[in-house]
Amino acid sequence: MHKNSDEEKHNMEAILKHVKDPELLSQIEKVVPFHGFLTSGALIGIQMLNIARRELDVRNGERIYVTCETKNCMPDPFQILAGATIGNNGLKINNLGKMAVTVNKQAPEGVQGMKGVRIYFDPEKTKDYPKLHAWYLNTEKFHHEEIVPILLEAGEKVYSWKSVDLEVPVREKKQVQCCKSCGEMFIRHDNELLCGGCTE
Ligand SMILES: [Zn+2]
Repeated sequence: MHKNSDEEKHNMEAILKHVKDPELLSQIEKVVPFHGFLTSGALIGIQMLNIARRELDVRNGERIYVTCETKNCMPDPFQILAGATIGNNGLKINNLGKMAVTVNKQAPEGVQGMKGVRIYFDPEKTKDYPKLHAWYLNTEKFHHEEIVPILLEAGEKVYSWKSVDLEVPVREKKQVQCCKSCGEMFIRHDNELLCGGCTE
């Protein structure tokens, strides 16, 4: 998937030497082995996470819930840096093909609605960085080594965000059903008698 020649690795190391913020550098160093490489999308995920943490006033160790609107690259920083994973339901992918995320904190017990923040990579703002804009609109092909330095320089200037009202999902009682066709157990959502594999 990602090109990863020794030369590219070397170039990226040179780029990262210019990262002055030790917190950001430490985040990048955690994301690289997890994701495999510092892609532009992974860096965008890191920058969005940092905006969300500040906007929502997320304290250390506090859980966050993330809905990521693309499945590419961007979800990984939220998993490795914020512990919002697919497996703990902290991360949902709503694959709309958009560079956007919605983040909220854990709702207090009994609360049905709460505020979150939706952050998106804003084409009105990437216009100020022609190469980055062309990469975003995919009108030209670039290597990550060309885009990462622009993202680092632009920082939060290429993002927009707004507060959103979110519904807190009600936790349903888990019902286990034995499939009438294959005989395997599955968690049912309605009153279905066949598992998803047998109804396909
Ligand atoms: Zn079945």
